[in-house]
This record gives sequence, C-alpha cells and structure tokens, in this order.
Amino acid sequence: MNDQHSDTPSPQPHVIVIGAGPVGLLLANLLGLRGAAVTVLEKNPALAGTTSRAIGITPPSLEILEGAGLVDHFLSEGLQIGAAHVMYTPGGHTLGSLTFDRIHDRYPFILSIPQHRTRTILEEGTRRFPSVTVRYEHRAEEYHERPDKGRTDEGRFDANSPTVTVRCTDGSTWSGDYCVAADGAHGETSARAGITHNRGSYRHRFFMADFRDHTDLGSAAYLWFTRHGAVESFPLPSGVRRWIVQLDRQAPGESNGTAPDLEGIVRQRAGYDLDRGERLWETGFQPSWSEAETFHRGKLYLAGDAAHTMSPIGGQGMNVGFGDAALLAELFTGDHHDADSAVHSRYHRVRRRAARSATRRAAAGMTLGTMRGYPASAVRNVLVRIALLRIFRPWIARHFAMLAFKAGEPG
Ligand SMILES: Cc1cc2nc3c(=O)[nH]c(=O)nc-3n(C[C@H](O)[C@H](O)[C@H](O)COP(=O)(O)OP(=O)(O)OC[C@H]3O[C@@H](n4cnc5c(N)ncnc54)[C@H](O)[C@@H]3O)c2cc1C
Repeated sequence: MNDQHSDTPSPQPHVIVIGAGPVGLLLANLLGLRGAAVTVLEKNPALAGTTSRAIGITPPSLEILEGAGLVDHFLSEGLQIGAAHVMYTPGGHTLGSLTFDRIHDRYPFILSIPQHRTRTILEEGTRRFPSVTVRYEHRAEEYHERPDKGRTDEGRFDANSPTVTVRCTDGSTWSGDYCVAADGAHGETSARAGITHNRGSYRHRFFMADFRDHTDLGSAAYLWFTRHGAVESFPLPSGVRRWIVQLDRQAPGESNGTAPDLEGIVRQRAGYDLDRGERLWETGFQPSWSEAETFHRGKLYLAGDAAHTMSPIGGQGMNVGFGDAALLAELFTGDHHDADSAVHSRYHRVRRRAARSATRRAAAGMTLGTMRGYPASAVRNVLVRIALLRIFRPWIARHFAMLAFKAGEPG
C-alpha cells in the first residue's frame, strides 16, 4: 500500500476528487489555477467512451470556463445555438421563436458540444498544472476521515497531516485535506459516508440519437410540441444533429427488444426523414431526479450528479454541476478554507437551492412539452404562444439559457 501525498506543506489544500467526469475535471482545473494540489481518481481508462449526453453549455457555464482559461477551446470546437423555434405541426407551423442575442454580452448563445469533447478539453486543461494529477483506472472503494489534523499553527494546510483518505481497489491510498465525490449519479462515495438520497422518477420516456445532419434546420434548436407527443432537435458541431422523441408508454418495437422507431416518430411529428443507418449514438431514458440529503458532510463534498440529478430534458444537469465546481473551488482556496465553518455550509445551502430550482424548471418544461391529445395539447399551445409573445421573450430566453444560475447565486 502506498500513501500518496506531497512532502511540502502547501498554503493551499490538497483535494482528492473522485470521478473524472466533466464536473470533477472542471473542479480540478479551477483548483489547479488557484495553486491547489488535486488528485483526480477515475475508475475507467483514460477518456473512455464517446457518449454524447450533455450537449448544451449555457452562458453562466461559459463564464466559469472563461475563468478556467478554457473558453476559447470550447468556442473553437462548439457550435453556437442562437435561436430556438417551437413548432406544432410537421408542416412548419410555428408557436413562437426565441433568440438568444440579448441574453449575454459575450456569450449570446448556448454552445453545443458533445459531452465527451467537453471532458477531453477539460482533461487536457488539467495538464497545465503540475499540482494536478488525473489517475485513470483507480476505482475508489473506501473513504475515511479523521478530525481536523491538516492545519499548521499558522492556520495553513499541511499535506503531511491529511484529514481524508481514499482507498482504491488496487490497494493505493490517497490522502488530502478535502474529498469531493464527483462520481456521478451511480457513485457510491456518498453512501459510504452515510449520506442518503431522495429519489423519484417521471412517467415520461424518451429516446434520443445523434445523426449526420442533412436537414435545412441550420444552427437553430427546434421543438415540436404536437398532439402525438414531443420531438426536440439540436444541432451539434461537425454536421451532426440530435433528435429526441417522446415515446408512448409501450413504444413501437420495444416489445421485441429492438430500439424504438425514432425515424418513424420524427417523420410523423416533425416531417423530417432520417436515415437509421446514420445513427451515430443513441440512448433511451426515463427521466428521474435525485437529491442528496446533504451536499457536504465533514470534509466530504458532493458535486454534480453525485449530489443531484434532474430530467435531461431541459439540458441543465451538467451546467448545475459546473456551478457546484465553481463554488467549491472558491471555498477551498479562499481565505476561509475551514471545512467546518459556516462559509462551507453555504455550499450545501446555495447549491441545493440551485439544483432544486433547475430540477423544477426541467420538470415543468418537460411536462409542458409532453402534453398529448386534446384538449391538453391545445391548451399547452396557447400557453406557449403567450409565453413566446414579444414581451415575455427576453425572460424566457434567459430562463432557457439558465442565466439565473451563477455559482453562488441560484437565482
Ligand atoms: C441522456 C442524457 C442527456 C443529457 N443531456 C444533458 C444536457 O444536454 N445538458 C446538461 O447540462 N446535462 C445533460 N445531462 C446530464 C449530464 O450528462 C450529467 O449531469 C453530467 O454527466 C454530470 O457530470 P458528473 O461529472 O457529475 O458525472 P459523470 O459524468 O457521471 O461522471 C462521473 C465519473 O465518476 C467516475 N466514477 C464513478 N464511481 C467511481 C469510483 N468509485 N472511483 C473512481 N471513479 C468513479 C465515472 O466513471 C465517471 O467518469 C444528460 C444526461 C443524460 C443521461
């Protein structure tokens, strides 16, 4: 067994981050920039997978990435979504449109980029900092904490007297002043620390796939709210487009184990012909939500999906996680790095409010978009038309772009 830590006392803490997802890697960058030592432990091999999942980066997140010195990489790879159109028939009848040109002075758009590229850029970003190490194929399996011994008489952190220890399945142990569980929705670290989650699931079901794009939809997002159900479509860089369809309770094709007929549903509800052979990535999901009873216990902090999950419809989960990372970096490296202080309990308070607010918004948007049949869909369409009247548009655009969600200000 080897207990790994720096030999020299550091004025900044040593943080162990469990999970090299987008949230853990962003946190590593933000801490590295502030001179903190960070060890990221990731159970999978380096940047495994090409999963697309989160594709929309909102202006508040772009501000955080700017602070991390990485926004130019994202802007050069991502595609800027400047408008969203809500339709109600395949024939192109519009309920209303939103433009994002006034939502932010530097970032008047939502940046579209697949999650695996986000992870790669963030991982490459960590290499700028000698104090940050990402250890792949290190699966954390035990978490221990002891009373605050990590402090010198001058109040500085001394990495030789660590207070948290994480043991991996290969027998290695990693010690530091704080631990952040950024190990995702199925992460086990919180349970090991005795933190429970409240959970629930929604009755809606969806299927999504990314396709080579041969449509005329350009760089705008499109939502079809039809009486048969919803279809959403978002552009991705490199000539790719994501299509998400609301499924029936018993989706076509599901009974015999094959993937749902997304192409047929898109043709019926949106009027576009997609080629099944051009599906680049696909997944089905039934949205759910979860919230940890606390986002912070002792020296352990939960961030991203480890702390909260929400319906992916609305595209907010990763962005809320980015807000968690930004506030944690500030708290760990500010003048007040005492995990037991009131300043640190602010993390739980502020980020839980942000997560709850995003969870409610995601659920409300999903409920509105998924109303089917008469009269529900007709009533919904009237509401959407009103919401997209010129006077409400700026507010709705800000809502869509999560502008109320700053790291410290949940809105
Ligand atoms: C279908 C779908 C679509 C989505 N679309 C959007 C969207 O458009 N916009 C948006 O903002 N969000 C979206 N989300 C949500 C988004 O994908 C998540 O919020 C985001 O991945 C959370 O990042 P994370 O870093 O917290 O967790 P994860 O991405 O889950 O990363 C956790 C990491 O921890 C590692 N790990 C787990 N356990 C251990 C262990 N014991 N030891 C070491 N490593 C461990 C895992 O291997 C993983 O790499 C979507 C989600 C889904 C499912």
